[in-house]
Amino acid sequence: MPLIAFTVLAVFVVAGIGGYVFVKRFVQARVDLIHRTVHGARSVGAGSVKAPNGDLLALDAEVSAWAGSKRSEVLELRERERFRREFIGNLAHELRTPTFSIQGYILTLLEGGLEDPKVNRKFLERASSGTERMVRIIEDLDLITQLESGVIGIAAEPMDLRKLVQEMMDDLRIPAQQRRVTLHNAMQDEVLVHADRDRLAQVLLNLLNNAIHYGKEGGSCTVRAFDIGEQVLVEVEDNGPGIAAEHLPRLFERFYRVGKSRARNEGGTGLGLSIVKHIIESHGGTIAVKSTEGQGTTFSFTLPAAR
Ligand code: ADP
Repeated sequence: MPLIAFTVLAVFVVAGIGGYVFVKRFVQARVDLIHRTVHGARSVGAGSVKAPNGDLLALDAEVSAWAGSKRSEVLELRERERFRREFIGNLAHELRTPTFSIQGYILTLLEGGLEDPKVNRKFLERASSGTERMVRIIEDLDLITQLESGVIGIAAEPMDLRKLVQEMMDDLRIPAQQRRVTLHNAMQDEVLVHADRDRLAQVLLNLLNNAIHYGKEGGSCTVRAFDIGEQVLVEVEDNGPGIAAEHLPRLFERFYRVGKSRARNEGGTGLGLSIVKHIIESHGGTIAVKSTEGQGTTFSFTLPAAR
């Protein structure tokens, strides 16, 4: 009996010691693995390439590629968000001026001005011109949106640029005379381009209008065209005060203005050049500006030539 008891006890003791050693080794192995993994992950996180095994290297490459693509997505979203915020801010700013002026005139009329024949008509006319300004901003924005989204396409056909330039100059005779600006069409012969007549008319109107209003009083504006193979290069040059170099890169942005108060007083929406750029680009052309302060400004754009 004591022998049996001793044997059983001995078996338990040996089994216990064996079990303990086995469990200890097993756990230690797992702990080691966890340590190696954590160390490897830290190396990857720190940008080190000394990952302890192939899996971690592959993981490193995958995570880096994912992080790279997310980083550029985030940058793009941030840029869009900045643009959206700036755009809404500009739009609110642009609409505020005419809205407040309309509100002011209407309130004055309601508070007794309506019965005063000296002011009633004048105030109504001013409120009406504020409304016209708002309509101009909305129409210009609508046009840009439609051009951008491709809702209004370009119906290009062969047409004579020289003739269209002349028509636009004739249309602008009165504002040009008011500022004593001489408009000069330097094209001697027919210049055939492949363009949408109405859209191109708008381009010329905006550029000529700017030359008249921002150019020199008593100055001049000349339109030229050059055959450059597949394309025609058109230049609209004035001898006005010019634009400082720091403004040139942003000139075609929506609502961007150089002489802020002056441009607003003259009724510009700050969208004219943005529209011009959209129209030229939807014809497959490009537009550029060069200017020297005190000497003048030249806008040049290309259009497909028609043969
Ligand atoms: P706006 O509706 O104010 O005329 P534009 O987009 O047509 O808007 O022009 C943007 C700004 O560029 C104008 O406010 C003006 O300051 C400047 N600008 C445009 N054309 C000329 C020019 N020929 N000479 C000098 N400044 C110009």
